Amino acid sequence: MATATSTVIKPDHAASRKHFIFTDEHEELRESMKAWVLKECTPHRFEWEENLWPDSILRRAADLGFVGLCYPEEYGGQGGDYFYSLVRADCMSYSGCGGLNMGFAVHTDMATPPIHLLGTEEQKQRYLVPSIKGELISSLGITEPGAGSDVAGIRTTAKRDGDEWVINGSKTFITNGLRANYIVLVAKTDPDAGHDGISLFIVDIRDEDGKETEGFSVSRKLEKMGMHASDTGELSFQDVRVPAENLLGQEGKGFYHISWELQGERLVAAIGCVSGAERVFDRTLAYAKEREAFGRPIGRFQAIRHKFAEMSVKIEVSRALTYACLRRFAAGEDATREVTQAKLLTQRAMCEVADEAIQIHGGYGYMREYGVERAYRDARLGPIGGGTDEVMKEILGRQLGL
Ligand SMILES: Cc1cc2nc3c(=O)[nH]c(=O)nc-3n(C[C@H](O)[C@H](O)[C@H](O)COP(=O)(O)OP(=O)(O)OC[C@H]3O[C@@H](n4cnc5c(N)ncnc54)[C@H](O)[C@@H]3O)c2cc1C
Repeated sequence: MATATSTVIKPDHAASRKHFIFTDEHEELRESMKAWVLKECTPHRFEWEENLWPDSILRRAADLGFVGLCYPEEYGGQGGDYFYSLVRADCMSYSGCGGLNMGFAVHTDMATPPIHLLGTEEQKQRYLVPSIKGELISSLGITEPGAGSDVAGIRTTAKRDGDEWVINGSKTFITNGLRANYIVLVAKTDPDAGHDGISLFIVDIRDEDGKETEGFSVSRKLEKMGMHASDTGELSFQDVRVPAENLLGQEGKGFYHISWELQGERLVAAIGCVSGAERVFDRTLAYAKEREAFGRPIGRFQAIRHKFAEMSVKIEVSRALTYACLRRFAAGEDATREVTQAKLLTQRAMCEVADEAIQIHGGYGYMREYGVERAYRDARLGPIGGGTDEVMKEILGRQLGL
């Protein structure tokens, strides 16, 4: 008997599958930025993994208007809403180069936002404007050899001396630390005042020719498990003199300032993982449709098919939570709980998806040319960087009054 499904009355499902948080303008940016990433970044992903991503690519992104997307036009930005940041992170995921994406995100979503929110007009002109043009590269210095999760336990000090602050101490694991012109630095201005004795500073560490500021040096260039395209350094500050006007935000309130910055940092990390997992998923799906074993594509084995089903749920749940908290964050609500949940969920999801992707690729998954082992190594940073899984759970537990 013929089944004529064409005669069944049903909705035509002609509506676009665009997610409801995005406008047509967001989608236009996605199209143009994605095309740029695929053309000018992706082809270099192996070369940059050997030699680091070049500074010139940030300048190029700035020329195309991708760096200042969410900053006001008066500072050279595009004046877009916060959702553009999400679109940017999504587009960067097409580079296949986690180290590039991380270095970019430090500049666009971690080091410059505090200058925009807390900076004086002079600081914005001096640092934000050239950063949006890609003329200055930024870094963010929270972590120290002796204190990472415990931000209040940092030892770097800033002592006032006339019209200057004198910085002493060291910072470690600093992304862009080998190339940045300045660092947004967390230091103790009153070592006896606990959380109220910490302040932020903008510290010039290199001029535009790369010459280091007196007293500043890179004590170690760090070798990592993944993210090789990104430079990571241990930085030393010995009597580095900073003009008084480079204090960023309120003196003694740096702990609270950086706690705010960490929300944006964790959110962009969550977005990066949702998109990153999706890229790995898509590549692996294509592989599972092509690779044959026992006379059929491996994706047709139930064991493999179910892996895809589970991964697709993980990615979709990660996306739903991340987009929901993005809406709160963009609306100016306190989204600490949701951001913390999203950071926790997405970083693990990315690790699990990358792990399954290797398994589905079999021996080829273990080989460099397919890029999944690289995604796996890069992803492993997620549950550590920007606040560990354990710290996320502590924040959530405390919020529950435990
Ligand atoms: C590649 C890379 C790039 C980075 N880039 C930057 C950067 O640009 N700028 C920057 O400032 N930092 C950066 N970091 C640092 C990163 O944010 C820290 O590594 C992270 O916050 C953890 O700090 P830690 O390494 O000192 O670990 P620790 O704080 O020493 O933690 C060690 C272990 O103890 C656990 N632990 C600690 N406290 C608790 C607790 N209260 N309850 C339960 N468990 C706990 C942790 O979860 C972890 O498992 C980077 C790190 C890496 C690896």
